Amino acid sequence: MRTIGIYFAKQRKKFQLIDSKKIPMKIFKFGGASIKDAEGFKNVSTIIKAHESESLLIVISAIGKTTNALESVIKHCYAKNNQVHHAFQTIVDDHNKIAKILFESGHLAIKNALETLYVELENCIQSSHLQKDYDALYDQIIVYGELMASTIMSHYLTTQSIKNQWIDARDYIITDQRYRDARIQWVETAELINTTLGPIAEKDLVITQGFIGRSVGGETTTLGREGSDYSAAIFGSLLGADSISIWKDVVGVMNADPNKFSNAELIKELSYNDAIELAYYGASVIHPKTIQPLKAKGIPLYVRSFIDVNEPGTKVSAQSKPITISCKIHKDNQILLEIRTRDFTFIAEDHLKQIFQLLSENNMRCNLMQNSAICFRCVLDSKENQHLALIQQLEFLGLDATCQSNLELISIYNTNSSFNKEEDIGNKDIVLQQNMGKSIHYLVRKPINTDLKN
Ligand code: ASP
Ligand code: MG
Repeated sequence: MRTIGIYFAKQRKKFQLIDSKKIPMKIFKFGGASIKDAEGFKNVSTIIKAHESESLLIVISAIGKTTNALESVIKHCYAKNNQVHHAFQTIVDDHNKIAKILFESGHLAIKNALETLYVELENCIQSSHLQKDYDALYDQIIVYGELMASTIMSHYLTTQSIKNQWIDARDYIITDQRYRDARIQWVETAELINTTLGPIAEKDLVITQGFIGRSVGGETTTLGREGSDYSAAIFGSLLGADSISIWKDVVGVMNADPNKFSNAELIKELSYNDAIELAYYGASVIHPKTIQPLKAKGIPLYVRSFIDVNEPGTKVSAQSKPITISCKIHKDNQILLEIRTRDFTFIAEDHLKQIFQLLSENNMRCNLMQNSAICFRCVLDSKENQHLALIQQLEFLGLDATCQSNLELISIYNTNSSFNKEEDIGNKDIVLQQNMGKSIHYLVRKPINTDLKN
């Protein structure tokens, strides 16, 4: 076994050297769509069985739409609303229904394991009034989706004679205290993964959860919605795995959403740089944070179909050449914030510093920005009216802010001859347009009646 070092960013600026072993193993990640029902669990088990001769660590996220269902539980909880019990019971019923199909009725181990998780979740709900911080409460409750799914998976694999060890990802993924978008504490995480998880993974098949972590202070945290891909990359990079595979319900990374464009093409190979850019602009097949840890160690990432398992999918690696085809990415649920000085003075560096400080404190991601003499415009993800608090804070600083919602960001990455503005943008009302290197971004207004989310 060889010891290699990687450089990584700690607290954004400081770079440090981490030594880690290189374990000959693979990381597989299965998301909600792959385990949306009992059949899904059986399919995952078949895939794992086909790789039985290899060392594997399996990252599981929540079943189907459980995370959304848990989000409603949290909202009802916070609003001290009685519907919370019904929302909780629906989640329990959904999990029991799957377990009933997968396990024989006398299978006590899974019954007890799930019951323990339901009781813990119910306790969190009942004591939720003690938690004043919405985001902290959110993380405490939301992680049960991953805990329940991975528990069912581990027990099911055991019944299929696939020996495995279930581990709680929170014992290894150490983060800061930024609830719902926690930052990895790489030194602490690497230490735990190297010393404790490595030896387990070398001898046993490991089943764990994506998305969840624990702060240095011992509180449950999460890495941001859809963050399980990132978890797989963290485990993979710190274990020094040979590769990471994300198993999806699509054949791989496509150059457009196949549901919207019938001529969408599979991208067979992607460089790390292209993958980061595509994921950043909203190509939802890969979580944007996934690539960085893998690039740092040169670990290839495969995006593969759990339906057509013989399809090679997309390979993201250091050897891949830059893409030549043009890609269209739609990012829904966007808002445009326009910030102006009240006294007609320039929006200068000190204002921008304050604006970015507030965006960072409010955990808001700026997807695109533009500025003129007296106006700064930024495109943000619309999240639970978070922008209202931001607007108030900006006003407190003497800046006026207005917001337009019901927008969609269309990014054309790698514009070339195959890009046809007429076809892609048509007569949509363009609110903002920006060229950036080989990309063009259009912020467009959505037809009024199609936006149900805001
Ligand atoms: N279950 C979480 C979510 O739906 C994490 C993930 O799927 O990656 O956001
Ligand atoms: Mg999910």
